[in-house]
Amino acid sequence: MTSPKQATSEEREGSKEKREGVLSSRPHNTASAGHALVIGGGMTGLFAARVLADYFGRVTVIERDELPDSPRPRKDVPQSRHVHVLLLRGVQILRARFPGLEEELLALGAPPISWLKDTAALSGGGWLPRFDSDLNGYSASRYLLEWLARKHLRRRENIHFRPGHRVIGLAANSDNTGVTGAVCIADGRQQTLHANLVVDASGRSSRLPRWLEELGYSAPPESTVNADVAYATCWYNIPDGWQTDWKMVLLATHFPDISGGAVIQPVEGRRWIVTLVGYAGDHPPTDETGFAEFARRLAGPQVWEAVRAAEPLTGISGYRRTENHWRHYERLKQWPQGLIALGDAVCAFNPVYAQGMTVSALSAEILDSVLSKDRTAGLGLAFQKKLAKMLQTPWQLATSDDFRWAGRNAGDATFLDRFMHRYLEHVLDRIHKPDVCLTFFNVAHLISPPATLFRPGIALPILWKMMWGALRIR
Ligand SMILES: Cc1cc2nc3c(=O)[nH]c(=O)nc-3n(C[C@H](O)[C@H](O)[C@H](O)COP(=O)(O)OP(=O)(O)OC[C@H]3O[C@@H](n4cnc5c(N)ncnc54)[C@H](O)[C@@H]3O)c2cc1C
Repeated sequence: MTSPKQATSEEREGSKEKREGVLSSRPHNTASAGHALVIGGGMTGLFAARVLADYFGRVTVIERDELPDSPRPRKDVPQSRHVHVLLLRGVQILRARFPGLEEELLALGAPPISWLKDTAALSGGGWLPRFDSDLNGYSASRYLLEWLARKHLRRRENIHFRPGHRVIGLAANSDNTGVTGAVCIADGRQQTLHANLVVDASGRSSRLPRWLEELGYSAPPESTVNADVAYATCWYNIPDGWQTDWKMVLLATHFPDISGGAVIQPVEGRRWIVTLVGYAGDHPPTDETGFAEFARRLAGPQVWEAVRAAEPLTGISGYRRTENHWRHYERLKQWPQGLIALGDAVCAFNPVYAQGMTVSALSAEILDSVLSKDRTAGLGLAFQKKLAKMLQTPWQLATSDDFRWAGRNAGDATFLDRFMHRYLEHVLDRIHKPDVCLTFFNVAHLISPPATLFRPGIALPILWKMMWGALRIR
């Protein structure tokens, strides 16, 4: 690969940007002019672009994939074929940042969901109680959501998309203290796009650690908790006249005996996305017979019944890259100016917890709060530290159960982590109680902080049990 530092060729676009005054010599983060470059047009890139457009004269989203002008899966986002639930905190942010988008989703047939009433959910503690609550959202396919968000952003004059551009490195100033752009390949030709701020939103397979090393910085330490989870997904037409008391089904796994789970997600076009999930190597097959057999032996009957009754619309897609993986940029001592990273590029979760898109939205909110205060001091490492603070909660929620499944792949957990993991197990054992269920759902949807799970009514019996358990072990 050509080293980014040698990549000096200013192709047409780069020169055009120079003519427009988007120069790498421009001081970083000046006023509401300047150019921000977002690497990756996934949900993180879209949320980030939305925020950046309020602060930068021009925002360019560089995407290696083609960006379809209709809602359909993209080659470089293979996960979009699988169940994608937007947690309620994500719904709130989307509502605020993309006014009108929710109405468009609903008009296009995305079903509204009252989470606790419409979902048949089985967890280790039994079937969850069903009741009305204010936990109301909707259910849409990932690619409908992404397409609509992109459509909204295209209406803004200062946001531009560059599909078919693959970033291969960063451009920097002469002493590598500041990032001044990105080097990319489009139509087989290399070019440098200059910017005042470069945002890595290129997802789980981000090459940022390598790009930093090429500029003389360290790669970040990483944490991984790998519960060896795999997905298998098929889409179905909801049968005409189908009658049930649920719209959505969640069959959770339970350590150590129930390693298979599933989700039925209703989406636009009267379709179901049925995703089977298997932990610790108990992977759902991607052939028709194996898929049906896996569905048949799940802990609840709904998925098997639905799969038998419905007409499949797609083949079965598998997915295995599901480990919890955190690149700790916040722990680095040195970091170039003019660069930040967020989304899966920093921290990707086991998707079972449905946190990714909402964490992307929350990350963009942090970006907004930093930019609205002190644009010069707040970016760079300071941003990565703020982001890491927010990531602690979703990381804890995602890894608490996964630690047990992961066994030797669990990595290092602090005493506090282990305490929280044990505590959450006890909460899940009591989730059949309506107050515990409601509190847990608010936390799981990233609406309330985990501290709410320590209300005396929930915490006292759990702490009592944990204490007795510990004394008995002695
Ligand atoms: C199987 C599965 C199921 C999931 N289910 C859920 C769910 O239910 N709810 C939820 O909230 N989240 C879910 N997620 C997570 C969710 O998909 C992501 O966390 C979320 O979309 C944010 O991802 P991202 O934008 O950071 O990365 P991605 O969605 O991976 O997007 C990264 C983008 O960057 C582009 N890119 C990468 N490298 C380059 C480059 N060098 N140059 C230019 N472009 C580049 C890619 O083509 C891609 O478009 C799931 C994930 C998986 C794998």
